[in-house]
Amino acid sequence: MIDLAVIYSELFKKHKMDRVHPESPARLDEIIKGVKELQYEIKKDIEFYKPQYISEKELVSVHVVDLIRKVQAISEAGGGMITIDTTLNPHTYDIARLAAGATKQAAEIVDKGEAKRSFAIVRPPGHHAESNSAGGFCYFNNIAIAADWLVNDKGYKRVAIIDIDHHFGNGTSHIFYHRKDVFYFSIHAHPMYSYPGSGYPTEIGVSEGKGYNVNVALLPGVTSSDWLKSLEFGLNILKQYKPEIILVSVGFDSLGGDPVGIMNIAPNAFWGAGHLLNQFAEEYCNGKIICTLEGGYKLDQLKDVSKKFILGLMGEKLIVLNKIMSREMTEQTRSMIVQTKKALKEYWNF
Ligand SMILES: [Zn+2]
Repeated sequence: MIDLAVIYSELFKKHKMDRVHPESPARLDEIIKGVKELQYEIKKDIEFYKPQYISEKELVSVHVVDLIRKVQAISEAGGGMITIDTTLNPHTYDIARLAAGATKQAAEIVDKGEAKRSFAIVRPPGHHAESNSAGGFCYFNNIAIAADWLVNDKGYKRVAIIDIDHHFGNGTSHIFYHRKDVFYFSIHAHPMYSYPGSGYPTEIGVSEGKGYNVNVALLPGVTSSDWLKSLEFGLNILKQYKPEIILVSVGFDSLGGDPVGIMNIAPNAFWGAGHLLNQFAEEYCNGKIICTLEGGYKLDQLKDVSKKFILGLMGEKLIVLNKIMSREMTEQTRSMIVQTKKALKEYWNF
């Protein structure tokens, strides 16, 4: 079995926003350089796959037709703006469908047992795309489409999405807000300080989905150990949910110094995060993890940080992980975790 399937295409670079936009094609060059170095540096089977375009039927499973037609029309007209921070060029519609297709394929490869884990290294990202609107550099919600496909086509009953991007994945959260077959857990910068302005601990889901949306909102300057402990906190809730498979929205924008971020996470913490996620998957869902790329804009560190994340994901233990995890949580983060616990006390044991 392949250790890691990487779904990637150079075509992802055809979609561009403004010339100086942080969500640039160069991000992918850095991450792919890292993956290629790992192919030589470690004794694991890392295989590249070419993605396929998502079908209209699969887009409609998550998005309203109006949004799909709008993205298509603006692209076909030569490009333009859909929200203040999110623009399109003539390729955006096609490439957004390719990014969604790649993420669904990442799910398919793991579901079939062809690879133990997969990583769709895509642009544009998806987690801010709501069922009826684009925004935050996202057009279609790649991870939501893949999760919905696992439930509807493959019969999974408990799918978990873990979002470690710096930002709250409002689109993903809202798409599954009323459902318990897809659990959404996110660690992100507090909505008072960061886009998209939602993702409070009290947002726990509605009707059947109540308790299946877990938000940990972190304050500016949060450090590696608090961030990893927040991830561990969510994984402890997920142990009670017992997912059959996990999908991860991977964003590297929580790195200290990221041009759009306010967190202060060190590259090694991403190794730790990959390791914790892999360990969880090994224990609870036969190692099945599907990753897709969201944000991360610090170009000079993207190669290094993605290599570290993948090393962790492949089960390579970070020597200093225990040391990082043994640091005491700061009062600021503790108070944020308390808010999440308070909101969810009827649903989970802490
Ligand atoms: Zn982000």
